[in-house]
Amino acid sequence: MFRIPGLFLMPRKTDSEQSKAKAKAAKSSLRNLKRQFGKRMVETLLKSPTLIDDIDKIRAAGVRIRLVDGPCRAYYDRKKRTIYIGRWCPRNYKLISIAHEFVHALVKPTLDPIPGKTGRQEFINRCLEEETEAIVHEIEIVKELIKAGTPVDPKELEWLKRYRRGGRKAIRKALEKTITSTTGEDYPEYYGSWYDEIVPPAQRIP
Ligand SMILES: [Zn+2]
Repeated sequence: MFRIPGLFLMPRKTDSEQSKAKAKAAKSSLRNLKRQFGKRMVETLLKSPTLIDDIDKIRAAGVRIRLVDGPCRAYYDRKKRTIYIGRWCPRNYKLISIAHEFVHALVKPTLDPIPGKTGRQEFINRCLEEETEAIVHEIEIVKELIKAGTPVDPKELEWLKRYRRGGRKAIRKALEKTITSTTGEDYPEYYGSWYDEIVPPAQRIP
């Protein structure tokens, strides 16, 4: 624990000053999003209270959102503290992906396995839990967008249906059989090879 002495010299802001500052910051973050993603995407985004809240938290944590060229995909880069969203993805996918990557960035950040300490299966389970969490969260956005009359991809509707049928458990189970778009492996295999990349053979624990 350490303290930053400068903080004690700053005059305390009153509550109304604080909420004014907050509203100002939120406005400028919306302006940024409009510039990056376009007016229509921000209009859609404003229909999802959960997503507005996510973006507020992303901004407050100093995590950036950037568009990226190439095939449609979305990911969070821990080192750069940046969420990347494919420039050519459909609008609803972009919005849902921000919410998904928000979970990876701030709610359940992925920790690397520790050689000699983290078991391979333990790591795979942990990653599956994090991915489940991210999908359960994106379903909230899907619900809000549908309610607002915004069309969403059939793939998203499938996750929503699964969730309505069997809750979080059904999501986790389906995820185990899902093939990742990046490598063509199923998710447990994909996380397993990630473990093998980080942990040298002599320090692997089953
Ligand atoms: Zn994910």
